[in-house]
Amino acid sequence: MIYFDNSSTTSVRTEVCRLYEQLIETCFANPDAMHTPGRDVEKKMETSRLKIAQMLHVLPQEIIFTSSASESNSLAIIGYCLKNMHRGKHILTSNVEHASVANSFSWLRQFGFEVEYLPVNSKGIVTEKTVREHLRKDTILVSCMHVNNEMGAINPIDKIADVVHENPICVFHSDCVQSFSKIELPLEKLDLMTMSMHKIHGLKGSALLIKKKKIQLLPLIQGGQQEQGLRGGTSNAPVNIIAAKTIRLALEEQKSSYEKVYQLNQYLRNELSKIPGAHINSPKEALPFILNISFDAISSEVLLNALDQKGVCVSAKSTCSSHSSHASSTLLNMGYDEKIATHMIRLSFDANNTLDEGKQFIQICKEILDTYGLPI
Ligand code: PLP
Repeated sequence: MIYFDNSSTTSVRTEVCRLYEQLIETCFANPDAMHTPGRDVEKKMETSRLKIAQMLHVLPQEIIFTSSASESNSLAIIGYCLKNMHRGKHILTSNVEHASVANSFSWLRQFGFEVEYLPVNSKGIVTEKTVREHLRKDTILVSCMHVNNEMGAINPIDKIADVVHENPICVFHSDCVQSFSKIELPLEKLDLMTMSMHKIHGLKGSALLIKKKKIQLLPLIQGGQQEQGLRGGTSNAPVNIIAAKTIRLALEEQKSSYEKVYQLNQYLRNELSKIPGAHINSPKEALPFILNISFDAISSEVLLNALDQKGVCVSAKSTCSSHSSHASSTLLNMGYDEKIATHMIRLSFDANNTLDEGKQFIQICKEILDTYGLPI
């Protein structure tokens, strides 16, 4: 099998699996319980929080453990807007966000919020100039992803944060799911930040929302005192304990992973450019972990299935919207035509992928083009 679908999810590291097996047996006690096993579990969970805080240079109380990036995005956006609606009701996001951000914004309309979508340019990027043009006195939130999950386009979130903060009542959230531990994040400039463990070889059901101390949120899940009262429900202590190890290992390998993936990406770009009717849709400045391509002759679905039959795993559009048959709105919003937007596939890599897999992939694409390659 060639697994080029790492933006969708990654394999779980062996160290993480082994530790999880241990912890679900030994750390079953409720960390809020007043007895010794409960207190022991709480201590381990808080040590994990502290270690993460040290690695990310934030305060431990700025870390909220959640179950997924979708939950973190929802809590950041809905929780912030509902708590702060007295300050203003204008909110901004880009027109290429993940569904958990896009749908949180549109859901807020029922409370009278005015949602505006920031357009991306032909490289899939929201510029700081665009943000400045849309920012108003009553804008209370701007949310803009760091790296786009379909194209790998990298937004200048440090510059966007500066523009957002020119308005003292406005805060900035960034979905950093696809950039965390791949490139540097300007976390010091972000008020709210989302990341997810299963994208970095950790466990599913485990994610973080970083919420700076001054930011007030309304909880979406009512319940007890867990996570500062922002997220009711007995804490998933084993996965929260493992989060520190997951992050440490990912950050330790950041540089070497980047270099490996960059070589593979360059090889594929080079080889694909020699195939007639092949298009590389990701901008050349994109994160090398994501490569969006299309072939004139084969639609996304046919190509995805043909690759699957030959043991190659890729995605068409983002996996969360893979069951809808429409063209990719991200590509359409970047100005690509309908054909490219219905013919694209996304390859996404990690450090386990090899150049040899790249070579096999090119060979397999050529075979598929020979079989299906009539213009359609
Ligand atoms: N944000 C981005 C940019 C993503 O790519 C994804 C998943 O593909 C998510 C959010 C949602 O992540 P999760 O599966 O942890 O909810």
